[in-house]
Amino acid sequence: MSSVLVFLEIKNREISRISWEAMAAAHILADSLSLPVDVAIIANSNNPILGTIHGKAPRTVYAIDHSLLHDYTADGFTAACAQLIKHTKPAYVVFPHTYQVRDFAPALATRFNEVLISDVTGIEPSTPPAFLRQLLQGKLNARHTHSGTGPCFVSIQAGAFRADVPHGGATMVEPVEPSLDAGSIRTQPGEPFRASAQTVDLNSAAILVSVGRGIKEEANLPIVQELATALGAELAASRPICDNGWLPMERQVGSSGQTVAPKVYLAIGISGAIQHLVGMKGSQCIVAINKDENAPIFEVADYGIVGDLFEVVPAITAAVRKVKG
Ligand SMILES: Cc1cc2nc3c(=O)[nH]c(=O)nc-3n(C[C@H](O)[C@H](O)[C@H](O)COP(=O)(O)OP(=O)(O)OC[C@H]3O[C@@H](n4cnc5c(N)ncnc54)[C@H](O)[C@@H]3O)c2cc1C
Repeated sequence: MSSVLVFLEIKNREISRISWEAMAAAHILADSLSLPVDVAIIANSNNPILGTIHGKAPRTVYAIDHSLLHDYTADGFTAACAQLIKHTKPAYVVFPHTYQVRDFAPALATRFNEVLISDVTGIEPSTPPAFLRQLLQGKLNARHTHSGTGPCFVSIQAGAFRADVPHGGATMVEPVEPSLDAGSIRTQPGEPFRASAQTVDLNSAAILVSVGRGIKEEANLPIVQELATALGAELAASRPICDNGWLPMERQVGSSGQTVAPKVYLAIGISGAIQHLVGMKGSQCIVAINKDENAPIFEVADYGIVGDLFEVVPAITAAVRKVKG
């Protein structure tokens, strides 16, 4: 019988949150196809971390271990996963969309004459199942179905699926020792990627005023800073603002920044790309100000103001100052 194989990643000595989200997606997919879920993880079969997978309902956990896998390399991970997939023949292989996965999973898919359907944000349980991806900054949803003869490879975008997964079911751990040759690993493992140290904890702020590219230039930032000050809020930003160096990286919200859930999140001149939404959609109340009424941010907003931020924001700041005296 075929299966849905989900790859879990260990980060900071635990299974990463996005891996559990991929597991949830794998269960949705497997339920629609009446297939079992199996897990692949690069770990020794005696690693106590595997205990956290028990009870999350996979059929078998394949614990892949080899001295050449102790440090990540794309060649090592690709070869090890390819051997497991050839052996277990899953119908679908599901990955969390992490830095590592985007490094090696496309090469892995190519070994099976397939492509990686990356950044999946939704699964339609049609026959065959359809995978949804966002295009053009979230303005369009693309629907992909698998028509190849090999396994279908997908990676799941952070925050797109809830991390809670069904409980129950006995799990069998099967140690896997791939045959790897040091000569076929072309790169030297380096320092793993680390997100920049956070000196501002956006999570402790009740109100966040978050600014996006709609602000146009750094010189205009005082407009939003004044609103933040009037509200007693912290300033946050979308990625382009931090990439431009207009605000420090630790103020970035999103999949490669902080995940926040304040009481109020004001998104000012932010379009609402999925990478931004995953970092803030858990906010209790979202207020969006955008001049484009079709901006995707309005889909998650509780209150929306369609207008020019250069008129709207100073007017709100003046109103807040008046109320606060
Ligand atoms: C691997 C990866 C990771 C990423 N991680 C993140 C992340 O962590 N965080 C993040 O934010 N992004 C992230 N991104 C980038 C993301 O895809 C978007 O490009 C980004 O969020 C867009 O930022 P924005 O909304 O500020 O800009 P834009 O998409 O350019 O939107 C600007 C918005 O401002 C509006 N606007 C323009 N002028 C005005 C005006 N005068 N008044 C009102 N509204 C106006 C426009 O209508 C538009 O909707 C990532 C991308 C990748 C590929």
